[in-house]
Amino acid sequence: MVTAHWLFGDQLGPHFLTPGEDGPDRDAPVVMIEARSVFRRRRFHRAKAHLILSAMRRRAAELGDRVSYVRCETYREGLREAVGDGPVTVHHPTSHAALRFVRSLENATVLPARGFLVPHADFRAWADGHGGRRLRQEDFYRWVRRDHDMLMDDGGAPVGGRWNHDHDNREPPPKDVRSLDVPPPYRPREDDVDDEVRHDLDRWEREEGIRFVGRDGPRRFPASRREALAALRRFLQHRLALFGPYEDAMLAADPVMSHSLLSSSLNLGLLDPAEVVARAEDAWRAGTAPVNSVEGFVRQIAGWREYVWQLYWYFGEDYRRHNALNHRAPLPEWFLELDGDAVTAHCLATALTQVRDSGWTHHIPRLMLLGSFALQRGWDPLALTDWFHRCFVDGYDWVMVPNVVGMSQYADGGMMTTKPYTSGGSYVHRMSDLCGGCAYRPADRVGERACPYTAGYWAFLHRHRDRLKGNVRMSQAVRGLDRLRDLDALLDQERRRGDSPP
Ligand code: FAD
Repeated sequence: MVTAHWLFGDQLGPHFLTPGEDGPDRDAPVVMIEARSVFRRRRFHRAKAHLILSAMRRRAAELGDRVSYVRCETYREGLREAVGDGPVTVHHPTSHAALRFVRSLENATVLPARGFLVPHADFRAWADGHGGRRLRQEDFYRWVRRDHDMLMDDGGAPVGGRWNHDHDNREPPPKDVRSLDVPPPYRPREDDVDDEVRHDLDRWEREEGIRFVGRDGPRRFPASRREALAALRRFLQHRLALFGPYEDAMLAADPVMSHSLLSSSLNLGLLDPAEVVARAEDAWRAGTAPVNSVEGFVRQIAGWREYVWQLYWYFGEDYRRHNALNHRAPLPEWFLELDGDAVTAHCLATALTQVRDSGWTHHIPRLMLLGSFALQRGWDPLALTDWFHRCFVDGYDWVMVPNVVGMSQYADGGMMTTKPYTSGGSYVHRMSDLCGGCAYRPADRVGERACPYTAGYWAFLHRHRDRLKGNVRMSQAVRGLDRLRDLDALLDQERRRGDSPP
């Protein structure tokens, strides 16, 4: 007898149905469950709800008669409706909660994870061999490159002679331009499925009290394998070449710059990371993109994405509760509501408005504007993780917990990064055009035009002086506090600013 196979909403690509020893049965009937409780529990960005439901319904349409697509309240209910007590297989889901749930089911067999490059056991062996704590992403990334023969030459050396091309990347934006000189990213064309989803979301809001945040539409991200492949193709052909130099730069009028916009497609499982890396490598071999850009992009996927996924499981379920800096402040209403219009600081207003309007910003606004602001103000890291998870189209538990708790909030006390990622306004000024028309000045610490990031940076260092002075990467900055004659006035100013929009 053929066993049914259950696809979660982030397992939508063909590789989740490839039969085999650690895959589903050949021609297994497929179960998909649209559980409304997910949306009742949390207030998601509406564009994210739209994207996920569109993608699931499109996948169901592709699978046709092979799939039982159940719309119901909970997964348990849906599974009972689809298979009763009958056996079902499912690939390892992407959150601790979902894994606990599928393991608790007597009729479910959990198959290994797909959609990532390295099996958990291999990572565990690698990490244990590296001391288990204070792991280095760079070491992991080189190991993956070697092991998977990615961007390597015949002699086993990295192509281009170097592992790391950061030196050629991370440029400030070009001067006096409003946008990068690259063709725009792929934009999907909406269809009946989008109309139906939008109609359902309206009804849920009207009749069922389900609430969303942010603005929905037009849909910007791929919702099918076909669309995701088209987006990948367009990125590789037209935009990858400039990815490297400007990957850390920001332009107010060009939020995407040369980023790929592929995170939601990878995280929905529409694209497999191995194929994305292979296609990027092909672009380099074909001479379409220079090595620094291709290496920078491959590093994001085979390095960062994979590392974050592995750490989520390796650090375990309690990792999310780390709060090494004892940050307890609740997130203010204007931030929760994505109210960029309430914010005067041009950079933060721009990033928050981008999130409100699209559910996406690139990694530097996430890290150095949104995350850094929260860190400086001592906001609760768990509440911030929840905010990122709900408000970003590519947000899932596995990817948000390490990125926010570890990378952005230093709440793990340095298990993931060697220092807190935060800066004064001078970094934003150097890497963007966002300070130009701003009411604040990046160099001002105190007074009417004191930049909230510059003042916030010093207030943060002051608050954590004792902990940070022993960190070799922070000690010099901490010593800088002693040279500030206006520190008392600065701290008083920041206390008075409180959590009002800056
Ligand atoms: P590109 O800049 O084109 O990068 C290519 C790909 O690399 C991305 O599509 C993504 O799949 C991968 N990638 C790069 N860095 C990371 C990373 N740190 N973690 C995981 N994948 C990475 N990414 C998510 O996919 N989901 C999230 O919820 C998420 N939350 C983040 C929260 C914070 C505070 C920070 C600092 C980063 C977060 N990231 C997250 C990583 C990164 O910001 C996004 O992957 C990226 O901005 C998505 O845009 P893109 O597809 O154009 O990426």
